[in-house]
Amino acid sequence: MMEIENIVYPGFNKSLAELNAVKKNKKNSIEIIDFTEIEWVRDVLRHRFDEVGKYEIKFLKATEDEITQVSKLVGADKNGDELKNNFHKNKRIIGITSGKGGVGKSTITSLLGIAFDELGKKVGILDSDIWGFSIPKILGAKFPPIPFNERIFPSKINNLSVISMEYFVKQDEAVIWRGPMLHKAIEQFLFEVLWQDVDILLIDMPPGTGDVSISLSQFLKYFENIVVTTPQSNATIVAERSGIMSKKVNASIIGVIENMSYMQVNDSTIFPFGKDGGGNLSKKLDVPLLGSIPLNEDITIASERNNLFEVRDKEIFGTIKEIANAIIQHQPKKKPIDLTIK
Ligand code: ADP
Repeated sequence: MMEIENIVYPGFNKSLAELNAVKKNKKNSIEIIDFTEIEWVRDVLRHRFDEVGKYEIKFLKATEDEITQVSKLVGADKNGDELKNNFHKNKRIIGITSGKGGVGKSTITSLLGIAFDELGKKVGILDSDIWGFSIPKILGAKFPPIPFNERIFPSKINNLSVISMEYFVKQDEAVIWRGPMLHKAIEQFLFEVLWQDVDILLIDMPPGTGDVSISLSQFLKYFENIVVTTPQSNATIVAERSGIMSKKVNASIIGVIENMSYMQVNDSTIFPFGKDGGGNLSKKLDVPLLGSIPLNEDITIASERNNLFEVRDKEIFGTIKEIANAIIQHQPKKKPIDLTIK
């Protein structure tokens, strides 16, 4: 019977025993509490039961008491202000920015997430790139987030907790979103999503504009930024603007990552997008160059297969882990956000 109690409730990340969810456990028939009332969640649970034996399962509607109990257990009982004031506790919040699209910002956000996980951190990824949301696809998300008691459990992809605009906005609607809608969405994604267990929250920001930076600076006491650029000078010039934007809202910039820096072809190294862009940008912004990532076939193939996790077994992952380590080592001073106009 132990096996049954150990079954993990989708989204909640807790076992049936921890949630006190098994009501009746007779020989082959079991009654469990249905906390979500979502059919695919029931299906996943049925499937998990099938893996351990032949059971007839009955789902019972959760009572208010049961919902209250479990809300406490998963931290969904905190109210708005309490939650906002404690949001930074034990959590680094890192926005990944770029001047323009297509430089590999989402790919790097995902790779860093996978690397931090390998280094023992609990990772959340908030995909706020409304014009190019792609994180769930790159990582191969199977299930959407789960609403529970006016809060949302992020989608779990292996160990990573992921939330994306993709789950809430139709692709063709995204283009008509305006600043205020984005602002509201960021607030919900920060405070309605259950990020309780996360040590590092990575935010894939939309390129350029700075709207999300401004929103974050209004909701959070502080956050950090990483600027991604290619070596091309036009990419670094626009990236510089997004770096300057971070400084304006007084977010600390951890450093610059140069992507698509070079390419290994047989025994020679070529530089399809020029050289030194990342280094020059880091000097201009007066922050470290955290690393350079080559154009790499294993990254392209794994992304195309919607499973970037495959990169874990490849040589390139060493470089990604070094960068992740540099980020863990480098904790910029926590500057409170200053919104006075200068
Ligand atoms: P952005 O988020 O900046 O718009 P993406 O992360 O979507 O950019 O990357 C754009 C394209 O480039 C994707 O097809 C991605 O797979 C590819 N890509 C990004 N970085 C690399 C890399 N280092 N090597 C190979 N392909 C890459």
